[in-house]
Amino acid sequence: MPIEFEAPKPITQAQFVLKTVAEEMMRPKSRYFDEHEHEIPWDYIEFMHSAMKAMGGSSLAPKENGNGKEKESGEKEKRPPIGYQLIATQLESLSWGDVGMYHCLPGGGLGAAAVHSAGTPEQKAKFLARFNEEKPTFAAMCITEAGAGSDNSAIRTRAVLDEKTNEWVINGEKIFVTGGDKSFTEYEKLGKGFIVVWASIDPSAGRAGMRAFVVEGGTPGVKVTKLEHKLGIRCSDTAAISLVDARVPFENILGSPTVETNTAGFKKAMATFDATRPLVAATGVGVARAALEFLKEKLEENGVKIRYGLPRQKLTNVEREVIDMEVMLKSTWLMVIKAVWMADNKKPNALESSMSKVKAGDVTTKITQKVVEILGPLGYSREFLAEKWFRDAKITDIYEGTGQINRLVVARQILGYSGKDLR
Ligand SMILES: Cc1cc2nc3c(=O)[nH]c(=O)nc-3n(C[C@H](O)[C@H](O)[C@H](O)COP(=O)(O)OP(=O)(O)OC[C@H]3O[C@@H](n4cnc5c(N)ncnc54)[C@H](O)[C@@H]3O)c2cc1C
Repeated sequence: MPIEFEAPKPITQAQFVLKTVAEEMMRPKSRYFDEHEHEIPWDYIEFMHSAMKAMGGSSLAPKENGNGKEKESGEKEKRPPIGYQLIATQLESLSWGDVGMYHCLPGGGLGAAAVHSAGTPEQKAKFLARFNEEKPTFAAMCITEAGAGSDNSAIRTRAVLDEKTNEWVINGEKIFVTGGDKSFTEYEKLGKGFIVVWASIDPSAGRAGMRAFVVEGGTPGVKVTKLEHKLGIRCSDTAAISLVDARVPFENILGSPTVETNTAGFKKAMATFDATRPLVAATGVGVARAALEFLKEKLEENGVKIRYGLPRQKLTNVEREVIDMEVMLKSTWLMVIKAVWMADNKKPNALESSMSKVKAGDVTTKITQKVVEILGPLGYSREFLAEKWFRDAKITDIYEGTGQINRLVVARQILGYSGKDLR
């Protein structure tokens, strides 16, 4: 089968539209929202919600395969699935605009991704429909706790079934929840969101006891207790959430309603990451591309144009550095595209997904740092966004599995070791 490097039309169209959004709505506000942490970019949220609704959906969830057009023969024409490839491109484009503001994009985020991976068809229909409604709506996913980050099987949040009322009673403290505030706190301008909380139904069973629960916004006993002050992506709200005797209906446990303790629940949590890690990698690529393009622009303004055709030894050091960064960035993007192509084609992609995340974590950190370095004082000054991109880039290597943890996942996949064998 020939390899096709040309992006399909829906992808190039999305890139074109989102470039305008990034240039007109995001870049002009980038510095403001960086300096006014925890202010909500309402104009952007409302604009993006209406725009996404006009385009046929108000979240970035992957669309079903096939374009539905009829062939002359009367059968429906199928095109190769590009749902995750399209999302990766959209996230890259928006993150080129501003990765913090991208995190304020309404839709389900990681919360919807968890419902997508772990929910039954009925749960998907029930919980995901709200993202197409009138008001912009958010969802978030809470796994991390103090003492349970990389090793999330150590979570202490407990869900106990109250057999009298047939409700789950959840107690625990979650930290670093992206979009936790907009998903849970009731704001007049937002629809009712939810958080997906990972809790243990049987602590003695370790990973096998882990299950995910949809906790609706405004549930009594659940509170956003803190908003983090951060190095980068400062426009994104990162919340600590406490749950004290929070009651959720029995059917809000994601997956099969029969409560068994086996590792299926934990595997579903990990399946969420197989889908989302390359998407995180795509956001990092967007930030690094922004920095690299800015560097080239500044170099050109100062009379330095990269002479691509020359042998390496005839290039200046700066030219070599720029070309090396372009190679790193392009190869990272190819890894992202491979991982999302596999997701679209329902091929197991745990290896490729973690590889793309490792690579993007390294490359985006290196490129943004190098850009600051080459720009000298201009790179360090708040007059330009280079120093912000440097701060924004680091998170690519931290959330959804740190670089070290994703390297372990890659090694386990290649060597055939289990989590117990290699940790
Ligand atoms: C801005 C932000 C947003 C986030 N959003 C979310 C969210 O929406 N939902 C959510 O649930 N979580 C979220 N997180 C949490 C994030 O996923 C964790 O911070 C991450 O998984 C690391 O866990 P930890 O912070 O407990 O670090 P630790 O696990 O304590 O790790 C500390 C260091 O030790 C290294 N390390 C740990 N174990 C090993 C090992 N076995 N081998 C080698 N090195 C190791 C790590 O790589 C890291 O460098 C977010 C975090 C941040 C900063």
